[in-house]
Amino acid sequence: MADDPLARRLDAVVGGTSAKALERAFGHRTLGDLLGHYPRRYAHRGELTPLAGLREGEDVTVVATVRSSSSRRMAQRRGTLEDVVITDGTGTLALTFFNSAWRAERLRPGVRGLFAGKVQLYKGVPQLTHPEYQLFDDEDAEATGLERAEWPIPIYPATGSLPSWRIRKAIEVALDVLPEELPDPVPDAAARGLLGFREALEAVHRPRTDEDWARGREALRYQEALVLQTALVQRRDQLRAATAVPRTGGALLAAFDAALPFELTGDQRAAGEAIAADLAALRPMNRLVQGEVGSGKTLVALRAMLAVAESGGQSALLAPTEVLAQQHLRSIARTLGPDLAARLRPILITGRMPAADRKRALLAAASGQSRIVVGTHALLGEHVTFADLGLVVVDEQHRFGVEQRDSLRGKGAGGAVPHLLVLTATPIPRTVAMTVFGDLDVTTIAELPAGRGRIESHVVPLAERPAWSARVWARLAEELAAGRQGFVVVPAIDAATEEDADELALPVPERAVAAPVPERAVAAPVPERAEGESKGATVADALAMLRAHPAFAGRRIEPLHGRMGAEEKDETMRAFAAGDIDVLVATTVIEVGVDVPNASAMVVLDADRFGVSQLHQLRGRVGRGGLPGLALFVTNAPEGTLARERVEAVAATLDGFALAERDLALRHEGDVLGAAQSGRRSRLRLLSAATDGELIARAREDAIAIVADDPELAGHPALAAAIARRVDEAAREFLTRA
Ligand code: ADP
Ligand code: MG
Repeated sequence: MADDPLARRLDAVVGGTSAKALERAFGHRTLGDLLGHYPRRYAHRGELTPLAGLREGEDVTVVATVRSSSSRRMAQRRGTLEDVVITDGTGTLALTFFNSAWRAERLRPGVRGLFAGKVQLYKGVPQLTHPEYQLFDDEDAEATGLERAEWPIPIYPATGSLPSWRIRKAIEVALDVLPEELPDPVPDAAARGLLGFREALEAVHRPRTDEDWARGREALRYQEALVLQTALVQRRDQLRAATAVPRTGGALLAAFDAALPFELTGDQRAAGEAIAADLAALRPMNRLVQGEVGSGKTLVALRAMLAVAESGGQSALLAPTEVLAQQHLRSIARTLGPDLAARLRPILITGRMPAADRKRALLAAASGQSRIVVGTHALLGEHVTFADLGLVVVDEQHRFGVEQRDSLRGKGAGGAVPHLLVLTATPIPRTVAMTVFGDLDVTTIAELPAGRGRIESHVVPLAERPAWSARVWARLAEELAAGRQGFVVVPAIDAATEEDADELALPVPERAVAAPVPERAVAAPVPERAEGESKGATVADALAMLRAHPAFAGRRIEPLHGRMGAEEKDETMRAFAAGDIDVLVATTVIEVGVDVPNASAMVVLDADRFGVSQLHQLRGRVGRGGLPGLALFVTNAPEGTLARERVEAVAATLDGFALAERDLALRHEGDVLGAAQSGRRSRLRLLSAATDGELIARAREDAIAIVADDPELAGHPALAAAIARRVDEAAREFLTRA
């Protein structure tokens, strides 16, 4: 919509300087961007913010009263140091300024205002250095009217250079230019008892009462859920509108099942039935199967591939790395057994095959000779063609984006779209599945095959127990002495390079502003670290230390990380799998899927630097071979910190779903429009996948009804425009990050 008032450029509304600052800090360009910058919480002039429990490294904005202020000459340098102490009535926070004696004068005892900055600990005392502040007297002096003193004060996500109150000013200007009639993406807000869009914006940004903003948020939260779900339902329906070739298994599949040395678990059977029904339909399957590592997903996928092969089609299995692709090929060949393998001819296509092998493999895929083609991204390439691609299996969904899924889908023959099966070992809470994978049907395999080795997990808290460090290495040495192998996992490659954890993070990515809760509750799970600050344990250091350690004399200890060449990595993995390497010192590159049954122990250094789900995934590398696994999470995070809590949460349970829920609660977020996995992130704003499950479910039902009635949204232009804004925003974020 060309005349969408929310599409107006900010510089024309708030002035060039503010517009620039807003774009630099948050990427806001349009009126819609700015008005979508919702407050993190609301303060009151009369209510001081509790200061106890502020954590180091947090960006905070607090309402407080000045208790004392003084100015003194510095001993070591020229100039003065101003010490101001603010209080909430009980706790205190120190403010320090350099060379600004005039501040100490204005910040006299009894004065009240907003103070913003990053909490630092100085000699154990929390303080803000050179904080931004706005005194309430100043604000009144700006002739805003006295009644305003009673209004809730929106506290916005802010940056050091752009404090909350400046954002508030810009937003008020924006509200003032907004037309009275704003098209509402929610078709029938009033009938739902919700505020209209225009009123809701006013209510969250310029509330007169707490009830105002609560009602505003309620309306905007529903709007956000509806926009999202409508986009996903549209996409799902588009996918469903395609034609697929029905595939059904028969004697071959039955023979395979009969030859299996074990019984399928109940969940595997149920997943198999759902898949069989999907495959037998005329429209393509779009199914996500999630289950813990080792829950037997690959086996479920292989049974689907057999059914497709039996009805004449081919399957492509897409793995995120070369190592995993090879591992899949080997295990598929093994599981099929020689007779079936000879008939189905599973092959590998990767980017780094010798030209002759590659040519042969391409031919086998194109001719239809090979019924199962395993590969990496290389499978997506233009040169790869199939005689009759019936099924695409994507392993470890979060490494592939929607576009990549689509590109394989396009390789079906004669306009038919292949069925799609996505496997992920990252447990995804239901509401996240609905938001992130709302265009897929979801099956969960919760049951593990019987007789799996348990994993014993312990936190090694060096902050309180520095001496336990020695015990960690002794334990690892014991495992090696028993003929086992181990991993030592570290967050960084060397002092300068942190392994990019992002690409591996679960699809519950970015934390955003959720419900108005105290700031510390929405603090980033991993405290932000300043440039140049330690990145934690490194491959280089750990390798040198272990190689020099007497307990590991004669052991082969090798590194594995993302900066090694692909061949070198593969070679290392192969040697480890063959038992030629005793200990791998690795970054998160070992996280997904790597399967070495003899590896029984894992030591994670600086464990608090990893995400909750990531730690859980890492831990899944041990205890694979029926041997009990041992995971030691070493951390320097002191007791009681959020960082420590997260590590303890992982150690306390092996239930990946419980951890995913917890991770979600800690992060608050879920990402959307299906693009999360490709690295673009359009954040959820008011919605919390952790707490808004019911609302999301309701919005989904409503979206289904709307799209069923009006697939192109011709009669819902405001909803269509809101979807377009989101997509555009996601694309912009992608561009700025690329
Ligand atoms: P996932 O892909 O979920 O990690 P896999 O399908 O690779 O799990 O299975 C892990 C291992 O367990 C494989 O060696 C597989 O043969 C075996 N397995 C699969 N299903 C069962 C079952 N029902 N009972 C016993 N072992 C199983
Ligand atoms: Mg697997």
